[in-house]
Amino acid sequence: MFGRAPKKSDNTRYYEILGVSKTASQEDLKKAYRKAAIKNHPDKGGDPEKFKELAQAYEVLSDPEKREIYDQYGEDALKEGMGGGAGGGMNDPFNIFQSFFGGGGGGGSNGGRRQRRGEDVVHPLKVSLEDLYNGTTKKLSLSRNIICSKCNGKGSKSGASMECSGCQGSGMKVTIRQLGPSMVQQMQQPCNECKGTGELISDEDRCPQCKGEKVVPEKKVLEVIVEIGMKNGQKITFPGEADQLPDTVTGDIVFIVQQKEHPKFKRKGDDLFFEHSLSLTEALCGFRFVLTHLDGRQLLIKSQPGEVVKHDSFKGINDEGMPMYKRPFMKGKLYIHFNVEFPDSLSQEQVKALEAILPAKPSMELSDMELDEIEETTLHDVNIEEEMRRKQAQAREAYEEEDDEDMNGGAGAQRVQCAQQ
Ligand SMILES: [Zn+2]
Ligand SMILES: [Zn+2]
Repeated sequence: MFGRAPKKSDNTRYYEILGVSKTASQEDLKKAYRKAAIKNHPDKGGDPEKFKELAQAYEVLSDPEKREIYDQYGEDALKEGMGGGAGGGMNDPFNIFQSFFGGGGGGGSNGGRRQRRGEDVVHPLKVSLEDLYNGTTKKLSLSRNIICSKCNGKGSKSGASMECSGCQGSGMKVTIRQLGPSMVQQMQQPCNECKGTGELISDEDRCPQCKGEKVVPEKKVLEVIVEIGMKNGQKITFPGEADQLPDTVTGDIVFIVQQKEHPKFKRKGDDLFFEHSLSLTEALCGFRFVLTHLDGRQLLIKSQPGEVVKHDSFKGINDEGMPMYKRPFMKGKLYIHFNVEFPDSLSQEQVKALEAILPAKPSMELSDMELDEIEETTLHDVNIEEEMRRKQAQAREAYEEEDDEDMNGGAGAQRVQCAQQ
């Protein structure tokens, strides 16, 4: 990597800038950088020089390869090694800040070698409507791979590896398959000898901690903050918390909010819908009931004196819907959908009593002559949805049969008859 043997120079300053010890883990570095970078961001009135130093220090120490060079030879070695050009080749501190906090699409592109980006790990996060109304924190234990601390992701004790002979270090193998007399198919597959890494580690040199895998599993508890007013499908991202791989920008862990069905409330955007059944008496003569809200508050819901509530009607209450995301003091509306339960039948006395107080029926006086010409009918109960569905199915079947072959009509007619019974 270097043209000449680098001289030893200062190799503690970066640790001091971040305020961590020389044995700090990747996790410690991240935490330290996160805290300091936010505090010293020039947009928030921080010192631009300090901000630049933080980015520089983090850039070097977060990269196992660069960190090793830094630890061994110090700052000057890195400045010589990187970029090779005039400016010392450091990345823009704002780019580093952005890629750390998940700003743009990975990898600063100015001069530095482009790193692969690891995959994001996506988990569904089931939450109740109460959780979204009140906000909550969920602790989730996850297992992920991290770069082996013993070998810094090299996989070997010496830090050395051999080029895989199976793929000449490319990590890919090309196989040729004969498909026919004059046809061959060329296929590229990850090399099986080195698992696509392009390098092999001799058995004696294998790192005892990771067995040459370069990564080790780690259990980690993540505190997922479900913020007030979050919506179904909203993402909660933990940047750089997915599986680590050498020479790869670690992907994110992404939780996707999945709101569980609520037995009483339905949510549409910032509004809530609540179903409530009223007896006919309540609908006509007034009602009051207590509604327990998603935060446990008891709301008294009542009609105005003399007000009649119609079946399948809605009424709204302002500012009792869902709190808005990032603006929890603003709330949507709460709509109440009224379902009026009518009695199935009435006695003669009840009919008489009601007729005496309700508005008069429209009168229909018919002469004898007219009565002669009018035919009597009987109303019977129907389940209209089911009947319509059955009729549609029959029509579809008849159409399909016609399509197949000319039916004699007998079978079709029979089916209609059966269905009507
Ligand atoms: Zn190979
Ligand atoms: Zn190891």
